[in-house]
Amino acid sequence: MQRYLPRHRPPLEFRPRAERPGRGLRVRWLGAAGHVVQTETTTVLLDPFLTRPGLLRTASARLKPTPERWWRWLPERVDAICCGHSHYDHLLDAPEIARRTGALLLGSRTTASFARAHGLRPAQIVEVPPEGLTRRVGDVEIRFVPSRHGRIVAGRVPFPGEVERPPMLPARVFHYRMGGAYGVHLTTPFGCLYHNGSADLIDAELTELRADTILVGLAGRRSTPDYLGRLLRLLRPRLVVPTHHDLFFAPLETGVRLLPGVALDRFVAEVGGAGRVVMPTYEDVLTIPAGDPRDATFAPL
Ligand SMILES: [Zn+2]
Repeated sequence: MQRYLPRHRPPLEFRPRAERPGRGLRVRWLGAAGHVVQTETTTVLLDPFLTRPGLLRTASARLKPTPERWWRWLPERVDAICCGHSHYDHLLDAPEIARRTGALLLGSRTTASFARAHGLRPAQIVEVPPEGLTRRVGDVEIRFVPSRHGRIVAGRVPFPGEVERPPMLPARVFHYRMGGAYGVHLTTPFGCLYHNGSADLIDAELTELRADTILVGLAGRRSTPDYLGRLLRLLRPRLVVPTHHDLFFAPLETGVRLLPGVALDRFVAEVGGAGRVVMPTYEDVLTIPAGDPRDATFAPL
């Protein structure tokens, strides 16, 4: 059904282009809250979710990663994979990617339980405690910041709770319990980036942090009062990139369709003069230079 919705093509003003991007942090959107983030030596994935089963299948079947269909969207080498929470649209594919690449997988106890069920080596699993954690991987410092999940379904967090022991696989959508939510703060040679994969936050956890760029999860943001305003005041980013604003029930090849009601124009108005907004598709790479992140540009994949 997703294919019948209009394809989203962001206006040119939000898509600065460069034929030959210079040096910088390379960020590529994988749909939902997923991203590839690369420095010159290190690759970190944030909430990579590529299997994207259809809506009916998601609701009715056991969910299995399909790497043979999506492997081309990922780099061959991955150093670390961060899961901000453990719903299926953040966690389903992460353990399989870690198994194939040998990457570290960082996430909540629930994420670690799924990692064990997939047979990852203990040394590959970094279980993040509720108070968060900082870990250096290559030239990136990864910091898990305690956060909250948006109350996106009738004022509630869907599938709350934790998974304390390795579950039976493949699992159903409701087996992927939320498991605790984190924002992920990356300090890189090209500046700091903050990934807020679900639309809520804990203000007190962000008062000491700054970010040059934020990847702002938009799904369900209306249930969080002044969501964007609080993030912008606390982190003071200069570059603001929406994420988790697409429908994720069809393969990436079919292009970006917006979540109903996500109101990207209102998002742009809410950011106002607080930062520059850029909008990715699945088919390009954003390069963020070390100097001013507002000089970021897109180049084709
Ligand atoms: Zn979620």
